[in-house]
Amino acid sequence: MDTLFSNVTAVLMDDADTVLKDAFVLVSQGKIAMVSTARPDGFSGREIDGRGKVLMPGLVNAHTHVPMTLLRGWADGFDLHTWLHEHIFPAEARFDARSVRAGTALGLAEMIAAGVTSFSDMYFFCDEIVEETIAAGLSANITQGLTSFEADFSPETHPGFIKLRQLKERWHGAEGGRIRVDACIHGEYTSPPKLWAAAADYARANGLGMHVHLSETKEEHEGCLCRHGVTPARAFDRFGVWDVRAYAAHCVWITDEDIALLAERGVTAVHNPVSNLKLGSGIARLPAMLAGGMNVALGTDGVASNNSQDLFEEIKLAATLHKGVLNDPKPVTAGEALRMATRNGALAQGRNAGRIAPGCDADLILLDFARPHLTPCHNVLSNLVFSARGSDVVLNMSGGRIIYENGNFLTIDLERVLLEIREYALPRLRAQ
Ligand SMILES: [Zn+2]
Repeated sequence: MDTLFSNVTAVLMDDADTVLKDAFVLVSQGKIAMVSTARPDGFSGREIDGRGKVLMPGLVNAHTHVPMTLLRGWADGFDLHTWLHEHIFPAEARFDARSVRAGTALGLAEMIAAGVTSFSDMYFFCDEIVEETIAAGLSANITQGLTSFEADFSPETHPGFIKLRQLKERWHGAEGGRIRVDACIHGEYTSPPKLWAAAADYARANGLGMHVHLSETKEEHEGCLCRHGVTPARAFDRFGVWDVRAYAAHCVWITDEDIALLAERGVTAVHNPVSNLKLGSGIARLPAMLAGGMNVALGTDGVASNNSQDLFEEIKLAATLHKGVLNDPKPVTAGEALRMATRNGALAQGRNAGRIAPGCDADLILLDFARPHLTPCHNVLSNLVFSARGSDVVLNMSGGRIIYENGNFLTIDLERVLLEIREYALPRLRAQ
């Protein structure tokens, strides 16, 4: 059935930051079919009255680890290394397929209610993550991070590579392309160059993207200089890692030379300001990356280091943090912050989405702008960036299908998920 949003304020996310008042946006067969200020002739389908509401592209969470919702508040106050090795890895060792499934469903519900329509994930038990994502109706780029600490690495026998090939065969392009599988190197510090070359070859040969963690901490960045004599960005470049559509989470410690290299290679940086602040990793030089011509998207990172998946927090922080750092109110405009959370993320995922334009995926969210904290509205983009919260989302449409409306989840049985979390996933996690 076709859907028509009528008399709505539409934020198109085009280059001109157009906000179209009293707009009509027609959705047909999962795509945006028409955007106009005139009502389409002969419409039959469901009409949604958009008066008092803002319609914008759904948010793209371009770097997360969805099942880590189970570890919300598990360990605060540690640097990345201590946090991972002493708290997170031991907890994750107690995850099984069933608890990952439950944690995924919980994380998807949280994201859907806060306006996310697509996400890029890096985790394990990926079959369960894909199945839950398909059931929930979101689109996703699914990756399992390759790691290797063995000297005799071979892609034929490496369990991570075997899994990557299985994932690609089973899921890449599923749901009309809503599900994609990308290759993924967890990080420079958790694998040898042989693995980077093999992952790059596999991605190139199979038309996949590449998801990595890059220069998240000072220790990682400087450790790579000791190990390989060059920065992580340049080390990966030597082995062809950037030869495909690539997206690199964090980029906190990258140099000016790295920025020039990554921009030239078309690599997307995924900015995760809350996680970087919370773990004390540092502050990525977002204005320098933007000025250097890099595509920059936004991510929450896993809930264990955030501790939420409300991308509106990242949007506000991306648009305010760097003003404070540089003692200058100009860097990162509201339009730039919103583009990062929408079309730049879609570009990183290889999707025709993130804008309201004919032919784009109908990934759309509707926000109630009649609320006290969104009143008055002198500037729609300003209110979206500096005043809105995920909880202002009243409708989430992913791929033309409404999956959340007025507080109701239409694809997730939240009661059942919460019961599964309470009675299975948490007891298993807490068992010693
Ligand atoms: Zn991460």
